[in-house]
Amino acid sequence: MKVVSACLAGVPCRFDCQAKERAQIREWVEKGEAVAVCPEQMGGLSTPRPPSEIQNGRVVTNQGADVTAQFIAGADVALKVALENGATEAYLKSKSPSCGVGIIYDGSFSGKTVEGNGFFTEALLKAGIKVTAVD
Ligand code: SF4
Repeated sequence: MKVVSACLAGVPCRFDCQAKERAQIREWVEKGEAVAVCPEQMGGLSTPRPPSEIQNGRVVTNQGADVTAQFIAGADVALKVALENGATEAYLKSKSPSCGVGIIYDGSFSGKTVEGNGFFTEALLKAGIKVTAVD
């Protein structure tokens, strides 16, 4: 079983109400081979919502609001869903402050990136789940 970013499965859950559907990911979900989660929605954030990036270990919106608590809560809920469904690997949307794998936006809201993982990705790795970035 896999856990995947819901936006990759076609759910319009990104901050701007868009999806980033990838046909293979959607097919896995439709066949019951993957469970789709959106950690940011699961943490109580609305859709649409202001874009957020990680700055010095905190998550802030482009309007300066600190949403770290929602990101931590959302990662926790999404991890529980993944584990309850028996997920052993994850396919996650690249660069996101929740789902990014290895590379994330640098906190300047300028499109620049730095090395790092999103909050959900970190939670999955700590739980021993293999993660793969999907552009
Ligand atoms: Fe997609 Fe993850 Fe962002 Fe939700 S939190 S919109 S699943 S990248």
